[in-house]
Amino acid sequence: MAADSPLKPSTIAVTAGRPAHQPDAPLNEPITMASTYVAGGDLEYGRYGNPTWQAFETALGELEGGRCLAFSSGLAAVATVLDLVGTGATVVAPRHAYNGSIMQLADLEARGRLQATLVDVTDTAAVVEACADAALVWLESPTNPALEVADIETITRAAHDAGAYVVVDNTFATPLLQRPLDQDVDLVVHSATKFLAGHSDVLLGAVATRDEELWSVLKGRRDLTGAVPGTLEAWLALRGLRTLHLRVERAQANAQELVRRLQEHPAVSEVRYPGFGAIVAIVLAQGAMAADLLTRKTSLWVHATSLGGVESTFERRRRWKTEAATIPDALVRMSVGIEDVDDLWDDLRTALDGVV
Ligand SMILES: *Cc1c(COP(=O)(O)O)cnc(C)c1O
Repeated sequence: MAADSPLKPSTIAVTAGRPAHQPDAPLNEPITMASTYVAGGDLEYGRYGNPTWQAFETALGELEGGRCLAFSSGLAAVATVLDLVGTGATVVAPRHAYNGSIMQLADLEARGRLQATLVDVTDTAAVVEACADAALVWLESPTNPALEVADIETITRAAHDAGAYVVVDNTFATPLLQRPLDQDVDLVVHSATKFLAGHSDVLLGAVATRDEELWSVLKGRRDLTGAVPGTLEAWLALRGLRTLHLRVERAQANAQELVRRLQEHPAVSEVRYPGFGAIVAIVLAQGAMAADLLTRKTSLWVHATSLGGVESTFERRRRWKTEAATIPDALVRMSVGIEDVDDLWDDLRTALDGVV
């Protein structure tokens, strides 16, 4: 099983998943482009494994304190985990989880595959009660885009008492700010597309677990469905991971400063921030049109979906027709990047001044 490394996360981010230190060995795992391998080894075929994926999996596994598998995207990882539950089983999930995960649950429910119970993750008592009938409890904390925080430990205990597995989508927090496997969670899911890769140039997903049997089942599912990562994507994500700690530290510091300033601005009626991480949500006092106007008025802040890149991006979430109707119409989700915070604020404040 993945060793619980004695090293600190910053050191793991830099050093894990490297070739052994031997004369003339490259410092970085090469990009191995291979659809097949000479017979007789462990890999055999390109769908079953690749040294470049494995280097990424080793590094992320050490950061999460478990064993990792990479997938073609975050949603491919989500689909593979949801497929673990038996037909007709109940899955408990946050009503404000990532929209794509909710859409997968709705699709599976519509086809009679499973039953989804959507909960308010901040209402721990209600979540604990819902756990009683569940086979799988899906958590996201903080949630995307509502930024609600779940009591992972209490919910996990209740879920385990009921014989259910617990999954945490750790995309927003990253293993640097939250390690769900340490809280006895069974599976961690990532959209590595976001902070882990960090440069808005890759789609990649991952799962981490300490349960060897779960790992094998998921590996078997990945072999069978072919939801495998691209080799270049895995390499780019590993390269991104080398600076994860620096990026998260800087983006978080920027976010905390911007939160302080946003709270004072008259165009903003609400600032949502869980106290950590680099995602902030604001609600515009003047409504959805003001929010749309804001996203067109900046020059540094890029109007774009997705998050976790080095550059600051934002969007009004309800511009997506599939976003939950309980998310405020005028909510703008902001992914704070690693630029200079005063430049970010000047750009944002000027745009906000125009929509008061
Ligand atoms: C983006 C995202 C996903 C989906 O990941 P993709 O890589 O886009 O498929 C899942 N969960 C969360 C929290 C996300 O932000």
